[in-house]
Amino acid sequence: MTAKRTRGGVFLLLGLIVLDVAFSFPERYFPNIPGYQTLVCDFHTHTVFSDGLVWPTVRIHEAVREKLDVIAITDHIEYQPYRQDIPTNHGRPYQIAQPVAQEKGILLIQGAEITRDTPPGHYNALFLTDIARLETELFLDAIRNANTQQGFVFWNHHTWHGAERGQWEDVQTQMYDKGWLHGMEVANSGEYYPQAHQWCLEKKLAMLGNSDIHDPSYFSPFSAHQHRTVTLVFAAEKSVSAVKQALVEGRTAVWYKNQLIGRKEFLLPLFEECVKVDEPRLTDKNTLALMIRNNAMIDLEFEAAGLNGPITLTVPAFSAATTEIPLAPQQDSVTVNYEVKNFLVQPEQGLTGQATFSVPLP
Ligand SMILES: [Zn+2]
Ligand SMILES: [Zn+2]
Repeated sequence: MTAKRTRGGVFLLLGLIVLDVAFSFPERYFPNIPGYQTLVCDFHTHTVFSDGLVWPTVRIHEAVREKLDVIAITDHIEYQPYRQDIPTNHGRPYQIAQPVAQEKGILLIQGAEITRDTPPGHYNALFLTDIARLETELFLDAIRNANTQQGFVFWNHHTWHGAERGQWEDVQTQMYDKGWLHGMEVANSGEYYPQAHQWCLEKKLAMLGNSDIHDPSYFSPFSAHQHRTVTLVFAAEKSVSAVKQALVEGRTAVWYKNQLIGRKEFLLPLFEECVKVDEPRLTDKNTLALMIRNNAMIDLEFEAAGLNGPITLTVPAFSAATTEIPLAPQQDSVTVNYEVKNFLVQPEQGLTGQATFSVPLP
């Protein structure tokens, strides 16, 4: 972190890590925010009932091992390469996995992936009660039938495949205007889509990030840089109905690599819960030390805001770092302007903030 000194109109900066303190990892990757639990969710997974390589219950055991709260099994409706071995039965993955999910404390959501050439592309529908009704000839009939079941529909990996890949076409406008499109994947597995991020902001769609996992999962344990791409859902409680309500209201953020992507209204309170700064102390009469503690599974990447030259400070996941700020004589407070580069509130724009610290008496 850096500090701006205002005395005499001179701006001086110093961002110096003098100490790293690592503490043991708690049970949760991210803290809760005021009024909501922060649930770690993967709304896009496959099993052998479409083109995945695992039995449905394996997805639950992986979720337990990886400390997820919620998963959806979303097998393709139109694409089942193992049909000769496993006959079409769209409801079976959920039926098979749900007793294990219940026993293990994982919320399992019944879903499916509507899988058409681009346009329109691929869409996940969640909270379904009758997946077979989405097996229609016309694409919009499938989307309508998801909505008549009070399903939540989002556009997957919108840059995938075909000449019109990545474009918002008439079909999306039709869905959107009817209220049948509720979200988009802003990240899918190893890809982030800035355009989807921007559309979600403009069109008030929920932002999702998912693994789209087909293979067995090899991410265990998670680290800040090595983990499944997931959606953080800010839910009133850990229940399927609360998760659905949160999705409908767009209370999400995407955890993708060492980044959080979302709306400022959720990234700001999450940041404030992730970061604690100890009481400032003087290391000598000219130097103020700030210890910044990071209570989350993300390396916080600070950069001086609006000042010349990149002056950066990284506070590793579940660790602390101290930065030292030079003081002028009689200076009684320090104001720090910063950008958190990896809390993306819009494409290429990190969360910005300002904090003022009193200088203690020597
Ligand atoms: Zn797909
Ligand atoms: Zn998929």
